[in-house]
Amino acid sequence: MTTATQEETLGFQTEVKQLLHLMIHSLYSNREIFLRELISNSADACDKLRYEALENDGLYAGDAELRVEIEHDAEAGTVTVRDTGIGMNRDEVIKNLGTIAKSGTADFLKQLSGEKQKDAKLIGQFGVGFYSGFIVADEMVVRTRRADSDQGVEWRSRGEGEFTIADIDYPQRGTEIVLHLKDDAKEFADDFRLKNLVRKYSDHIDVPVRMPKVEKARDEEGNEIEGSETVSWETVNEATALWVRPKAEIGDDEYKAFYKHIAHDFSDPLTWSHNKVEGKLEYTSLLYVPERAPFDLYQRDGVRGLKLYVQRVFIMDDAEAFLPLYLRFVKGVLDSRDLPLNVSRELLQKSPQVDSMKSALTKRALDMLKKLSKDKEAYQTFWNTFGDVLKEGPAEDYANRDKISGLLRFTTTHTDGATQDQSLADYVERMKEGQKKIYYIVADGFNAASHSPHLEIFRKKGIEVLLLHDRIDEWLMSHLTEFDGKSFADVAKGDLELDDMADEAEKQAQEETAKSKEELVKRVKEVLGDNVQAVRVTHRLTDSPACVVLPEHEMGFQMRRMMEAAGQPLPEVKPILELNPEHALVSRLERTEGGNFDDLAHILLDQAVIAEGGHLDDPAAYVKRLNLLLSA
Ligand code: ADP
Ligand code: MG
Repeated sequence: MTTATQEETLGFQTEVKQLLHLMIHSLYSNREIFLRELISNSADACDKLRYEALENDGLYAGDAELRVEIEHDAEAGTVTVRDTGIGMNRDEVIKNLGTIAKSGTADFLKQLSGEKQKDAKLIGQFGVGFYSGFIVADEMVVRTRRADSDQGVEWRSRGEGEFTIADIDYPQRGTEIVLHLKDDAKEFADDFRLKNLVRKYSDHIDVPVRMPKVEKARDEEGNEIEGSETVSWETVNEATALWVRPKAEIGDDEYKAFYKHIAHDFSDPLTWSHNKVEGKLEYTSLLYVPERAPFDLYQRDGVRGLKLYVQRVFIMDDAEAFLPLYLRFVKGVLDSRDLPLNVSRELLQKSPQVDSMKSALTKRALDMLKKLSKDKEAYQTFWNTFGDVLKEGPAEDYANRDKISGLLRFTTTHTDGATQDQSLADYVERMKEGQKKIYYIVADGFNAASHSPHLEIFRKKGIEVLLLHDRIDEWLMSHLTEFDGKSFADVAKGDLELDDMADEAEKQAQEETAKSKEELVKRVKEVLGDNVQAVRVTHRLTDSPACVVLPEHEMGFQMRRMMEAAGQPLPEVKPILELNPEHALVSRLERTEGGNFDDLAHILLDQAVIAEGGHLDDPAAYVKRLNLLLSA
């Protein structure tokens, strides 16, 4: 019998309460996953024991076998999940089962909307874990004893804001979780149902999951003899680590179930890649691309990396040393033969073996994405979710720039849709005869990009331009120099070298216009003075009277605004004002004299700055001038 001492009642952390409430309501239609989550925790606990026992094999004392046991009692309406893993001490129970340690939880919870469908997705992304037991149970009892302690602990809760905790005798090492099923969940206290669920969700776990098998002796006629029951424990799952098995033997469903276990994810992965490497370094990797972004994808201390095993022994979660940051969405397992069992995070950072595995795994991951890109729809899902992260790649990983470039997707003037679904290869294939460069524009949003005056000449000539409008895009483009032998050119910077595509007559006409406007250009420059670096006539515009551009090697407008917003002081650069000689307003300017000329010149400059997405230093002056002119 267990004797309870030192009982205390504690409240759940606010976040736990919120999560519990939402989970119970939004995951109702998927409630069988509670078993997967509890078995997954038991398997993790066995992994941890194996790891700690590397230093202290006394931890196995009394029972050398690692296993999970599942029992049920239909009459009492209970299901019990028990393991011989590491167990927990009192402090750990309070911390692990009373709070949510993951950073960013509060922010995450703020995103929840109260709409079942949406929230179910978000919660899945967060990882439901232990508390999912409360979807089916109105009370959960946890009894546990840490492998290195003599003191057992009991935790009880009805999932309603508080739990009680008490010291108990618990002779066995490990953890036992008893679910007192709700009335409408009694169906889970059933042998057949439980077995099916174990096979469905936990086949790939490398500890055996056992269930009692009741057998009755039979008499000579083959009838069962009452009262002759014997119980033996039957292993229900496959119980070998999935990645160790030959690829050909593993079904897609098993790969998917394994993914959910290691990634603590709720939805299927988009794709995976399983490889055994033999030779100087021996290791097996199983990499996955998730379908959904984790809530901490952009947090500095977000979870990233692979689950590391050394010779089948679990060493650590989130070993981030094996993949670059721009592939932080990749989940998976790495099992190495060569690393020492006592390897630490610090050692990983310094190991040349780790470096060479990292570069091999990076290539694998990029190849996996390339393969995925053959499936347009799936790749689009990937790109919409993780494209911005992959865009960090060219800056971080010079060596793989070409591979990464091939994986990028853009919006362009060719489709004019807001979906980033065109590759650089698509662009190159459509390049015009004589076109040498890949043209792009960077703006603050899709509309600003696609309506930019800078595109007018390109649209007229039918030359495609990439429309970049994500925060990271200018940073990306500053690290991409060429693709397929073609360099990139920002249409808002420097002179346009569309010469090769203009015919002789056109060029001559342009030169003549430029000459005829020399006087005008001079007058405008005099009026605008230091507000501009230069004034010139342009042929890049068809519909707009003027635009502003920057010299070729200047940082672009978008990047400047970003850095200024981040409090980074930058030396001021003045734009170059370009005038469209064919435009009626420019002709009118040419005919205007005196104060009106000054006003109109300023208005043209200010409008060009606005069209480009910039802010005016003195917007009131602009409005005043415009109103004067309108009422003239
Ligand atoms: P996660 O598994 O993602 O960490 P869970 O909510 O599933 O989150 O579990 C919370 C924590 O509770 C685990 O990280 C672990 O420390 C502890 N825990 C849960 N179940 C067990 C168990 N069977 N044995 C030991 N520790 C456990
Ligand atoms: Mg868990």
